[in-house]
Amino acid sequence: MTSKDPHAAPSILFNYMSQEKDWQEFRDAIRLTRDIIAQPAFDKYRGREIAPGPDVQSDQELDSFVKQHAETAYHPCGSCRMGEDEMAVTDGQGRVHGLEGLRVVDASLFPVIPTGNLNAPTIMLAEKIADQVRGKTPLPRAQVDYYVASGAPAKQT
Ligand SMILES: Cc1cc2nc3c(=O)[nH]c(=O)nc-3n(C[C@H](O)[C@H](O)[C@H](O)COP(=O)(O)OP(=O)(O)OC[C@H]3O[C@@H](n4cnc5c(N)ncnc54)[C@H](O)[C@@H]3O)c2cc1C
Repeated sequence: MTSKDPHAAPSILFNYMSQEKDWQEFRDAIRLTRDIIAQPAFDKYRGREIAPGPDVQSDQELDSFVKQHAETAYHPCGSCRMGEDEMAVTDGQGRVHGLEGLRVVDASLFPVIPTGNLNAPTIMLAEKIADQVRGKTPLPRAQVDYYVASGAPAKQT
């Protein structure tokens, strides 16, 4: 906030690319994409690499490309995340710590950034909290397989 006036627009600083991990993930993403497109299954379809282009290989070259071309995809979340630690704003039901009668129910509650788009998890979160508000028994946990990315996705050859 920049003002006590509730009608004033908030000041939002996303801190994009402020951590080394942000840069490493972008490099990994480009290298992994190249690995995938280089597979024989793509032989029939692959043309030349258009961007960043085959000459862009080193960390420095990739970083420079990212700096010039990366842009946001409008998926902010986790700005007042749920949890029980010092940095958490709400509990697991969206109730703001230290206050009574105030819940948050939106994408800002996400404790970690999901590796996918936000619309479906936002609806899921809202449905679950709505059930809690209404005192309904939560649905049983679904037992389904899901993909877990490893720590270093790109081959470093
Ligand atoms: C351009 C764009 C494209 C996207 N594309 C996709 C996509 O393809 N797939 C996907 O999964 N996700 C997509 N997303 C992300 C997804 O839409 C959002 O992350 C999600 O809608 C967030 O839900 P939310 O409830 O947190 O916030 P919002 O959907 O923003 O809901 C907030 C609501 O609160 C209302 N509001 C605000 N202030 C007040 C107030 N003072 N009083 C009363 N009401 C108020 C607003 O009018 C709004 O209806 C996209 C987002 C954008 C911006």
